[in-house]
Amino acid sequence: MNSFCIHISLAAILTISPLSWTQAVPGQPPRLAGYGVQASKAEHDWEKKFQDGIVADNLRQSMQRLSARPHHVGSPYDSDNAEWILARFKSYGFDAHIETFQVLFPTPKERLVELVEPTQFRAKMQEPGVALDPTSNQTAEQLPTYNAYSIDGDVTGPLVYVNYGNREDYEQLDRLGVSVKGAIVITRYGEGWRGIKPKVAAEHGAIGCIIYSDPKDDGYFRGDDYPKGGWRPRDGVQRGSVMDTDYPGDPLTPGVGATADAKRLDIKDAKTITKIPVLPISYGDALPLLSALQGQVAPEAWRGALPITYHVGPGPAKVHMKVTSNWDLKPVNDVIATMRGSSAPDEWVIRGNHYDAWVNGADDPIAGMVTVLEEARMFGELHKAGWSPKRTLIYCAWDGEEPGLLGSTEWVETHRAELQQHAVAYINTDGNGRGYWRASGSHDLEKFINDVARDITDPEKQISVWQRAHLLRLAQTANAEERAEVRKRPDMRIGALGDGSDYAAFLDHAGISALNIGYGGEVDGTAYHSIYDDFYWYTHFDDTDFSYGRALAQTGGTAAMRLADADLVPFEYADQADTIAKYVKDLEKLLKDKQDEITERNLELQEGVFTATADPHKTYVPPPAKPVPPFMNFAPLKNGVESIKKSAERYQAAFSKWQASGADLPTQTAAALNADLLRIQRTFLTERGLPERPWFKNQIYAPGAYTGYAARPIAAVREYMDQDKWKEAEVQIPTVGQVLENAAQAIDTAAEDLEKAAH
Ligand SMILES: [Zn+2]
Repeated sequence: MNSFCIHISLAAILTISPLSWTQAVPGQPPRLAGYGVQASKAEHDWEKKFQDGIVADNLRQSMQRLSARPHHVGSPYDSDNAEWILARFKSYGFDAHIETFQVLFPTPKERLVELVEPTQFRAKMQEPGVALDPTSNQTAEQLPTYNAYSIDGDVTGPLVYVNYGNREDYEQLDRLGVSVKGAIVITRYGEGWRGIKPKVAAEHGAIGCIIYSDPKDDGYFRGDDYPKGGWRPRDGVQRGSVMDTDYPGDPLTPGVGATADAKRLDIKDAKTITKIPVLPISYGDALPLLSALQGQVAPEAWRGALPITYHVGPGPAKVHMKVTSNWDLKPVNDVIATMRGSSAPDEWVIRGNHYDAWVNGADDPIAGMVTVLEEARMFGELHKAGWSPKRTLIYCAWDGEEPGLLGSTEWVETHRAELQQHAVAYINTDGNGRGYWRASGSHDLEKFINDVARDITDPEKQISVWQRAHLLRLAQTANAEERAEVRKRPDMRIGALGDGSDYAAFLDHAGISALNIGYGGEVDGTAYHSIYDDFYWYTHFDDTDFSYGRALAQTGGTAAMRLADADLVPFEYADQADTIAKYVKDLEKLLKDKQDEITERNLELQEGVFTATADPHKTYVPPPAKPVPPFMNFAPLKNGVESIKKSAERYQAAFSKWQASGADLPTQTAAALNADLLRIQRTFLTERGLPERPWFKNQIYAPGAYTGYAARPIAAVREYMDQDKWKEAEVQIPTVGQVLENAAQAIDTAAEDLEKAAH
């Protein structure tokens, strides 16, 4: 969704030396990590057949079919799609079934936003269809614009503009002497998970929350709007969930599958429903509200691209808003398709994308869903030609992702025990676009997915997608030190996962290694979560020839088959140790920065800097003096990191030695070694989970309680630090340190067993 302006010099291209973990023999493709000589050669041949067989036009046809009508959770076309996907998987030779859960999914009954003072205006909250765009006019089946899991409410109060509505924005409001107590806040979309906006607003005493799309963020400021261009038009609205971050999935069944007979919470006890009513609106509807605000002029960084002077308020604009929903249980239908492994059927490689959408959802999620189907089709073809995966492949089409990762979370909760026994990894996609290769994930798969990306060709530049992404990173890196690292480090760093899509339950709750992959960055526009995200929009402004859809199917499918066929699953722990070490350094730096910042601020308060520089014609409240954070003992974390580094080196040495020997592993030996590897991932969990969010059991990877989407590595420690709770933060350090020691020990066991096997 971002657009880049990049300049790549020839010099940069010439200095590239992509080192791979795989081993090169002149005249032959490099040997794949985790494969014996023969096995590697065979795998290369099958992968080539697989990649060559992916057909862009199949992606186009599947998208046209799946996005032909609106298909949100519980809608007729959503279940129609489930049946169609089921039939496709079966026709490809997969053993497939639908698994159904009953989840709380509110749909709107009443929606009202009106300005009652000083003038009157009623928001229309309706996206108009576009004549050129045939599916934008399916009004009867479209879900109205709303935010799912907003509590019911009917409130009236003065309006306050709060920018993106993050915690820092409220600190800024404090400086301006503006309180939101008893007020309705209007905030713009962007800068983090939308569910944080009503959460933080309620914590500051607001009684209602309106979220609008400013043209600066995704409208005419960025490019021509729809249908001339791809950007959000005047009346375009972003729907979306505002579920709180305590746990994803069905609000009534945290931690257990929402089967028909599951024990359910009362709706009033569900922790993830908002505390105050929330509604999304377009900038067309927001303009009269924002224009009616007076009070101080908004700080420069808060101003959007509307033709007004942005004021903060409060008032004199006074707003009345009302939201009520149907709070019914609805079915979510996951489609689960299995191709049984030939020699290690009890080890599972899982691949998925969701198929439910807010409306027609061509980009989100169908652009990704169709790649999952095309991969499955090609596996069916390969199977007919004599190939079988060694491990079992499980291909999933998730329902109910948009409201709150419902389908994937309930499935993982239901099958947690067997998944923890059998799952090797989960590979997720969620939509797709034209542009650069992107990956995030658990870092035991960093090297693996780098190697896969080296084998995929970029359709626009005819270099590997890895190389293109690497060059982009050089173009975007801010300073010489970072550029040096990008040039020197064999693998591109991949980001950590938060809870932005269906990988969350796998990684955060069940401790299953996960990847999220896709392409993007050259899409000229966004129709995110609106009626315009449909086939017409996608085929005019996004990956119009489906060449990046083809690249994604090649990437996702190659990753799945390479994981499924390896003798020894190619996890790698040096990259992971390196990344965890970085996270620990980040924590130390965070403490130092906070100490410096607060010391400086306290000094300036004493010196009178704030009062002397405040304009007496404006309200300005100096920040309060704060105690300087105490030093913390990070030693247990640092010791844990050292232990993991040592174990990772030992494993690496054993792995390289075996790999160099070229020997295939006997099936029994391989099974024992792979069981060792699967155990390592689970050691990152604690049964008690994060101190205030026990559903999140992974001590390294978790989303932030105040960032959502984005990851907050080592959240148990970090989140308390974010809240200036230094003692509480320090108490968590030994627990995480112990987790690292346990992981190190598990890696050691794997190294020892591999040393014996490869002697
Ligand atoms: Zn999605």
